[in-house]
Amino acid sequence: MPKFTDDTLLVATHNTGKLEEIASLLGPYGVTVVGAADKGLSVPEETETTFTGNARIKAHAAAKATGLPALSDDSGIMIDALGGAPGVYTADWAETETGRDFVMAMTRAHDMLVSSKEPQPWTARFCCTLVLAWPNGQDEVFEGTIEGWIVWPMRGTNGHGYDPIFQPVGQDVTFGEMDRWEKNRISHRADAFQKFIAGCFG
Ligand code: IMP
Repeated sequence: MPKFTDDTLLVATHNTGKLEEIASLLGPYGVTVVGAADKGLSVPEETETTFTGNARIKAHAAAKATGLPALSDDSGIMIDALGGAPGVYTADWAETETGRDFVMAMTRAHDMLVSSKEPQPWTARFCCTLVLAWPNGQDEVFEGTIEGWIVWPMRGTNGHGYDPIFQPVGQDVTFGEMDRWEKNRISHRADAFQKFIAGCFG
């Protein structure tokens, strides 16, 4: 796997929280991190049916537009009894005309599980794919997961998205009840980032 030897990494996100998190993670390696907004990049349409496919679209579009190596991520939750749904449509399930409503999305997932008559525990995993793409078209893919199950009712107000209904294996609290530091240590994103750092900076 090629090591990362450039000075600057473009992070293909408009989310400033994600950008700051990645910048602090890469601080020890002397890499300057710039975001998609700094370069005036638009958001490409995510037309693929896998996390890797969509992460590749974002990373390659950003690398091509800027001439810089670009890192993107794509994530979501897969529920086994729903055939892996919502998967790449995790954010779409929360869309409303006035913004994202994750209580609605979690309720939808629960209602579908009840209708499915699949027995509990309802196993599920959060997935995160990172893609590092170079302007010459080369790329590297890093996949992280965390296994758990869907619980109901929702528990906890920490975190975001589907955190209140996801309880990781080996824990008696949901992501929504867990403190941020602990979640960031064990999450699908942490898993993918550890692989990225080990692969490209190790
Ligand atoms: P994206 O990768 O930023 O497009 O996020 C995909 C969707 O997955 C978002 O709607 C998030 O709410 C959801 N998601 C990703 N990671 C997590 C997590 O750690 N907790 C809860 N929801 C998540």
